Amino acid sequence: MNQIASTIPASASVSVPRPSQEEAEEAVRTLLRLAGEDPDREGLRDTPARVVRSYKELFAGYDVDPVNLLERTFEEVEGYDEIVLLRDIRIESHCEHHMVPIIGRCHIAYLPRSRVVGISKLARVADAYAKRLQIQERLTVQIADTIDQVLQPRGVGVVIEAGHQCMSTRGVHKPGVSMVTSRMTGCFRDDPTTRRELLNMIASRAPGTLDA
Ligand SMILES: [Zn+2]
Repeated sequence: MNQIASTIPASASVSVPRPSQEEAEEAVRTLLRLAGEDPDREGLRDTPARVVRSYKELFAGYDVDPVNLLERTFEEVEGYDEIVLLRDIRIESHCEHHMVPIIGRCHIAYLPRSRVVGISKLARVADAYAKRLQIQERLTVQIADTIDQVLQPRGVGVVIEAGHQCMSTRGVHKPGVSMVTSRMTGCFRDDPTTRRELLNMIASRAPGTLDA
Protein backbone atom coordinates (compact mmCIF):
# COMPACT_ATOMS: atom_id res chain seq x y z
CA MET A 1 0.00 0.00 0.00
CA ASN A 2 3.03 2.24 0.11
CA GLN A 3 2.81 2.67 -3.64
CA ILE A 4 -0.55 4.35 -3.18
CA ALA A 5 0.86 6.95 -0.87
CA SER A 6 3.56 7.74 -3.37
CA THR A 7 1.27 8.32 -6.35
CA ILE A 8 -1.82 9.87 -4.82
CA PRO A 9 -1.95 12.92 -2.61
CA ALA A 10 -3.73 11.67 0.48
CA SER A 11 -4.67 13.97 3.30
CA ALA A 12 -3.13 17.40 3.68
CA SER A 13 -0.89 17.33 0.66
CA VAL A 14 0.74 20.53 1.81
CA SER A 15 2.85 20.75 4.92
CA VAL A 16 2.88 24.53 5.16
CA PRO A 17 1.84 25.63 8.66
CA ARG A 18 -1.66 27.07 8.85
CA PRO A 19 -2.18 30.63 10.08
CA SER A 20 -3.86 31.41 13.38
CA GLN A 21 -7.51 32.47 13.45
CA GLU A 22 -6.37 36.08 13.97
CA GLU A 23 -3.95 36.01 11.05
CA ALA A 24 -6.61 34.54 8.78
CA GLU A 25 -9.19 37.13 9.82
CA GLU A 26 -6.68 39.90 9.23
CA ALA A 27 -6.10 38.58 5.72
CA VAL A 28 -9.84 38.81 5.03
CA ARG A 29 -9.88 42.37 6.34
CA THR A 30 -7.07 43.16 3.90
CA LEU A 31 -9.10 41.77 1.00
CA LEU A 32 -12.13 43.76 2.12
CA ARG A 33 -10.02 46.90 1.96
CA LEU A 34 -8.75 45.82 -1.46
CA ALA A 35 -12.35 45.59 -2.65
CA GLY A 36 -12.89 49.16 -1.48
CA GLU A 37 -14.67 48.38 1.77
CA ASP A 38 -14.24 49.50 5.35
CA PRO A 39 -13.73 46.29 7.37
CA ASP A 40 -14.96 48.11 10.48
CA ARG A 41 -18.34 48.93 8.95
CA GLU A 42 -21.12 47.47 11.09
CA GLY A 43 -22.34 44.95 8.52
CA LEU A 44 -18.85 43.61 7.95
CA ARG A 45 -17.78 43.27 11.54
CA ASP A 46 -18.30 39.51 11.71
CA THR A 47 -17.43 38.83 8.10
CA PRO A 48 -13.77 37.88 8.58
CA ALA A 49 -14.70 35.25 11.18
CA ARG A 50 -17.47 33.93 8.92
CA VAL A 51 -15.16 33.72 5.93
CA VAL A 52 -12.56 31.83 7.95
CA ARG A 53 -15.27 29.41 9.13
CA SER A 54 -16.53 28.89 5.61
CA TYR A 55 -12.99 28.25 4.37
CA LYS A 56 -12.74 25.36 6.79
CA GLU A 57 -15.86 23.90 5.22
CA LEU A 58 -15.04 24.67 1.59
CA PHE A 59 -11.55 23.21 1.89
CA ALA A 60 -12.28 20.40 4.33
CA GLY A 61 -10.85 17.91 1.84
CA TYR A 62 -7.28 18.63 2.92
CA ASP A 63 -8.06 16.86 6.19
CA VAL A 64 -9.56 13.78 4.58
CA ASP A 65 -7.50 10.86 3.37
CA PRO A 66 -9.46 9.33 0.45
CA VAL A 67 -7.25 6.25 0.29
CA ASN A 68 -7.96 5.51 3.92
CA LEU A 69 -11.66 6.09 3.31
CA LEU A 70 -11.79 3.27 0.76
CA GLU A 71 -9.30 0.97 2.43
CA ARG A 72 -11.37 0.83 5.58
CA THR A 73 -14.65 0.08 3.88
CA PHE A 74 -14.39 -2.22 0.92
CA GLU A 75 -16.00 -5.64 0.96
CA GLU A 76 -14.84 -8.70 -0.87
CA VAL A 77 -17.68 -9.68 -3.18
CA GLU A 78 -17.47 -12.46 -5.69
CA GLY A 79 -19.79 -12.88 -8.62
CA TYR A 80 -20.85 -9.34 -9.48
CA ASP A 81 -19.12 -8.60 -12.74
CA GLU A 82 -21.07 -5.73 -14.24
CA ILE A 83 -20.47 -2.00 -14.17
CA VAL A 84 -21.24 -0.11 -10.97
CA LEU A 85 -22.08 3.49 -11.81
CA LEU A 86 -22.77 6.35 -9.44
CA ARG A 87 -24.21 9.10 -11.59
CA ASP A 88 -24.73 12.82 -11.07
CA ILE A 89 -22.73 13.33 -7.89
CA ARG A 90 -22.76 17.06 -7.27
CA ILE A 91 -19.27 18.50 -7.26
CA GLU A 92 -18.42 21.73 -5.48
CA SER A 93 -14.81 22.72 -5.84
CA HIS A 94 -12.68 25.83 -6.28
CA CYS A 95 -10.32 26.60 -9.11
CA GLU A 96 -6.77 27.02 -7.94
CA HIS A 97 -6.11 29.91 -10.29
CA HIS A 98 -8.87 32.25 -9.10
CA MET A 99 -10.25 30.56 -5.97
CA VAL A 100 -13.81 30.77 -7.25
CA PRO A 101 -16.29 27.90 -7.48
CA ILE A 102 -16.30 25.04 -9.92
CA ILE A 103 -19.79 23.50 -9.78
CA GLY A 104 -20.77 20.40 -11.63
CA ARG A 105 -21.58 16.74 -11.73
CA CYS A 106 -19.35 13.75 -11.46
CA HIS A 107 -20.06 10.23 -12.67
CA ILE A 108 -18.00 7.45 -11.15
CA ALA A 109 -17.98 3.91 -12.50
CA TYR A 110 -15.97 0.82 -11.89
CA LEU A 111 -16.08 -2.77 -12.97
CA PRO A 112 -15.36 -4.79 -9.81
CA ARG A 113 -12.82 -7.56 -9.73
CA SER A 114 -13.48 -8.66 -6.16
CA ARG A 115 -13.92 -5.55 -4.06
CA VAL A 116 -16.91 -3.26 -3.85
CA VAL A 117 -17.62 -0.27 -1.65
CA GLY A 118 -20.78 1.43 -0.45
CA ILE A 119 -21.77 4.04 -3.03
CA SER A 120 -21.64 6.83 -0.48
CA LYS A 121 -17.92 6.14 -0.13
CA LEU A 122 -17.39 6.92 -3.80
CA ALA A 123 -19.15 10.24 -3.33
CA ARG A 124 -16.99 10.93 -0.29
CA VAL A 125 -13.83 10.27 -2.30
CA ALA A 126 -15.05 12.78 -4.87
CA ASP A 127 -15.73 15.30 -2.09
CA ALA A 128 -12.37 14.73 -0.45
CA TYR A 129 -10.62 15.85 -3.62
CA ALA A 130 -13.20 18.46 -4.63
CA LYS A 131 -12.96 20.31 -1.32
CA ARG A 132 -9.50 21.51 -2.21
CA LEU A 133 -8.12 24.00 -4.68
CA GLN A 134 -8.27 22.19 -7.96
CA ILE A 135 -8.12 22.12 -11.68
CA GLN A 136 -10.82 19.90 -13.12
CA GLU A 137 -8.38 17.66 -14.96
CA ARG A 138 -6.47 16.79 -11.80
CA LEU A 139 -9.66 16.31 -9.79
CA THR A 140 -10.84 13.77 -12.37
CA VAL A 141 -7.55 11.88 -12.33
CA GLN A 142 -7.27 11.83 -8.55
CA ILE A 143 -10.75 10.37 -8.06
CA ALA A 144 -10.22 7.70 -10.71
CA ASP A 145 -6.72 6.71 -9.68
CA THR A 146 -7.57 6.43 -6.00
CA ILE A 147 -10.45 4.05 -6.72
CA ASP A 148 -8.29 2.17 -9.20
CA GLN A 149 -5.43 1.65 -6.79
CA VAL A 150 -7.41 0.80 -3.68
CA LEU A 151 -10.19 -1.36 -5.12
CA GLN A 152 -8.06 -2.73 -7.96
CA PRO A 153 -11.10 -3.24 -10.18
CA ARG A 154 -11.07 -4.27 -13.84
CA GLY A 155 -11.43 -0.63 -14.70
CA VAL A 156 -12.51 2.81 -13.51
CA GLY A 157 -14.27 5.54 -15.43
CA VAL A 158 -14.74 9.04 -14.08
CA VAL A 159 -16.45 11.80 -16.03
CA ILE A 160 -16.90 15.32 -14.68
CA GLU A 161 -19.02 18.03 -16.27
CA ALA A 162 -18.63 21.37 -14.56
CA GLY A 163 -19.05 25.09 -14.91
CA HIS A 164 -16.23 27.37 -13.85
CA GLN A 165 -17.19 30.66 -12.28
CA CYS A 166 -13.81 32.10 -13.18
CA MET A 167 -15.12 31.90 -16.74
CA SER A 168 -18.80 32.75 -16.16
CA THR A 169 -18.68 35.63 -13.66
CA ARG A 170 -15.36 37.22 -14.59
CA GLY A 171 -12.73 37.07 -17.34
CA VAL A 172 -14.42 36.17 -20.62
CA HIS A 173 -17.91 36.09 -18.99
CA LYS A 174 -19.27 33.05 -20.77
CA PRO A 175 -22.02 31.51 -18.64
CA GLY A 176 -23.57 28.20 -19.58
CA VAL A 177 -20.31 26.67 -20.74
CA SER A 178 -19.42 23.37 -19.19
CA MET A 179 -16.13 21.62 -19.28
CA VAL A 180 -16.09 17.84 -19.57
CA THR A 181 -13.15 15.75 -18.44
CA SER A 182 -12.75 12.01 -18.16
CA ARG A 183 -10.31 9.47 -16.90
CA MET A 184 -10.61 5.84 -17.97
CA THR A 185 -8.48 3.01 -16.69
CA GLY A 186 -8.33 -0.72 -17.37
CA CYS A 187 -11.23 -2.12 -19.39
CA PHE A 188 -12.82 1.30 -19.84
CA ARG A 189 -9.66 2.51 -21.49
CA ASP A 190 -8.76 -0.61 -23.45
CA ASP A 191 -12.12 -2.05 -24.48
CA PRO A 192 -14.21 0.24 -26.72
CA THR A 193 -17.38 -1.82 -26.09
CA THR A 194 -17.12 -1.46 -22.32
CA ARG A 195 -16.37 2.22 -22.64
CA ARG A 196 -19.36 2.71 -24.91
CA GLU A 197 -21.58 0.84 -22.45
CA LEU A 198 -20.45 3.19 -19.69
CA LEU A 199 -20.97 6.34 -21.72
CA ASN A 200 -24.45 5.11 -22.69
CA MET A 201 -25.27 4.45 -19.03
CA ILE A 202 -24.16 7.97 -18.12
CA ALA A 203 -26.14 9.53 -20.96
CA SER A 204 -29.34 7.53 -20.59
CA ARG A 205 -31.26 9.02 -17.75
CA ALA A 206 -34.99 8.92 -17.52
CA PRO A 207 -36.54 12.39 -17.42
CA GLY A 208 -37.03 13.63 -13.90
CA THR A 209 -34.68 11.24 -12.18
CA LEU A 210 -31.93 13.80 -11.75
CA ASP A 211 -33.52 15.60 -8.82
CA ALA A 212 -35.26 12.59 -7.32
ZN1 LIG B 1 -10.06 29.80 -12.57
